Amino acid sequence: MRAYPMEGIFDYIRSNEERFIDELASLVRQPSNSTTGEGVEDCASVLKELMEKSGIKTRILSTGGSPVVYGETQGPEKGLTVLIYGHYDVKPPEPLDAWISPPFTPEIRNGRMYGRGAGDDKGQLYAHVKAVESILAVGGRLPVNVKFLFEGEEEIASPNLKPFVSRNRELLRADLMYSSDGTMPFGEKPGINFGVRGILKIEVSSRGPSRDVHSGGYGGLVPNPVWSLIHLLETMKGEDGRVLIEGFYDDIIPATHSEREALGRIGFNEEAFRQELDLQALDKSPGDHPLERLMFWPTLNIQGFFAGTREAEGINIIPARARTIIDMRLVPNQRPEHILEKVKDHCMKQAHLGDFDIIVKTQVPPFRSSLDHPYTPAVIDAVKQGFGEDPLLVPSMGGSDPTYIFGNVLGLPCFKVPYAQSHESNFHAPNENLLLDVYVKAIKTTAALLVSLAKGANTH
Ligand SMILES: [Zn+2]
Repeated sequence: MRAYPMEGIFDYIRSNEERFIDELASLVRQPSNSTTGEGVEDCASVLKELMEKSGIKTRILSTGGSPVVYGETQGPEKGLTVLIYGHYDVKPPEPLDAWISPPFTPEIRNGRMYGRGAGDDKGQLYAHVKAVESILAVGGRLPVNVKFLFEGEEEIASPNLKPFVSRNRELLRADLMYSSDGTMPFGEKPGINFGVRGILKIEVSSRGPSRDVHSGGYGGLVPNPVWSLIHLLETMKGEDGRVLIEGFYDDIIPATHSEREALGRIGFNEEAFRQELDLQALDKSPGDHPLERLMFWPTLNIQGFFAGTREAEGINIIPARARTIIDMRLVPNQRPEHILEKVKDHCMKQAHLGDFDIIVKTQVPPFRSSLDHPYTPAVIDAVKQGFGEDPLLVPSMGGSDPTYIFGNVLGLPCFKVPYAQSHESNFHAPNENLLLDVYVKAIKTTAALLVSLAKGANTH
């Protein structure tokens, strides 16, 4: 294996820093609002051109929605292949008058680049591109094979990503998936995310009379759907916080020894947490450590309850219908479709309480990679080199994202290292920005990762 002197690569990054920032600005300047479609296709072309100039063979592939920008740079023939995922689309910039500088006119203030997409996710995905350029400039060839999949629909829940990945298994064949999105998970320390929870979101409604009726003229005769729904919800979760739907917890995989250790190292200041949210106590839930509840246990949450009349309307009714929106955050190996069946069975068994309907709103499976995966040391080493400090190992995020597609459809171990500061990053809000210091560290991290992975693979 040829030598890849990290110092030489880091020197190259340092001496090209200004250009790397200018190029990111040109990417941010191009709108790519996937909610309205504005600029998305043009942004794919801008990104393709920037990637090609960086030594990456790039194509634009259609998905049925916004295109995927796909790139490849070859390494050694029998080398590892890293699939890098990111998204070039952005959230709408409104409200425009809340921006200090216009959203698509990137401006640098206080060491941060302000602009829609600067942090989420253009700066983060472009760091990978510049890392590849830097290694090529110094080493002539990459130490591993790299494939890039940059999608244009993440901010609208990636409706075409799973079918695209399923259709292109061969093209996307790799040994691991690496991505950068979101902000540093716990304070300003870099972290490696190994997993995501899934979600099953449903609307449960309860039917009463065919129309709203008067509570005086009909009260005592007509059953009230609001009460029915309240009674149903009471059968779903006990006062001790346990979900009472039969089989709900059957498939969950408990935290391993390494995962528990990682939780201990992240730490959780319960007092500060409660103070910030003015809480008397944390939610009751199975799981000993608070972070274990957040990462390794599923939840059943009532998002909203809609029924009846508003006080101002001044009418006395028994309403015709009551609705509630429930989300269940799922953990491996709970499958949304199985949990849905269990919820339906549960409601059937409670049919004596009322007449219930269920509509599915969202279902996304959970996914978790092992902390003990053989590639983990290379990822840790890369973050150490890039950021100059040890990363936190985060076994799972509480939320959901498209990572599960790479884990479940392609069967890849997935590592996500957020390349944006958590303090005032303003993602999805006015004055979104990226700390340029983090941007440069990010470029170094990806470069170090590609080199470390190759070294690790060689010593196996
Ligand atoms: Zn994002």
